[in-house]
Amino acid sequence: MNLVYLALLHDEMLNKNGETVTTSLTLIDLHDIARSARTYGFAQLFIVHSVPAIRALANRLKDHWQVGFGSTYNLNRKEALDYSCIVEGLDDVIAQVFEQTGKSIKLIATSARGGENRISFPEARELLANDDKNAYIVLFGTGWGMTPALLERCDYILEPIYGYSEYNHLSVRSACAIILDRLRIVNR
Ligand code: SAM
Repeated sequence: MNLVYLALLHDEMLNKNGETVTTSLTLIDLHDIARSARTYGFAQLFIVHSVPAIRALANRLKDHWQVGFGSTYNLNRKEALDYSCIVEGLDDVIAQVFEQTGKSIKLIATSARGGENRISFPEARELLANDDKNAYIVLFGTGWGMTPALLERCDYILEPIYGYSEYNHLSVRSACAIILDRLRIVNR
């Protein structure tokens, strides 16, 4: 099975006014996305934030569940968080994945918005399963999603999840769980 990585981004995001911002870290995202990543066999979850105090907070939470009281209280949570890593920027993610795999890196963006050049879930699933020449990182946004410049930097943009109503406001951790399922399990 090819190694596939995940990154949750907070810089170069849009706010509701369409401005470029750095969003705050939602701590439950770290727990829940780490569990989804582990469940669906993704290699590592990178939590990416440019603000040192936020990275320190995320590391403190990780430490609580990995070496503190939580490490013996909830082993499942510890195991999931073992697969997470907190870094400053997307370039750090790319550098670490390159160091681990030695492969050229392909970025797959996710977005709630449709548009041109979207790759379908079956196409993405094929790539992740069969392309062993490249290493893939699936990117998740926060706030009102990634800036157009960040999306342009990606090699692929995944088609959105369409729900069963016109309401299109999934939280990133819910969207992530659905996307990971579709990227791994055939016929979704
Ligand atoms: N309007 C934003 C957008 O265009 O992505 C929604 C931002 S949403 C709160 C934060 C992140 O959750 C998105 O960047 C994407 O990673 C994920 N997300 C949320 N809804 C999604 C959907 N319907 N399809 C795919 N990804 C979604």
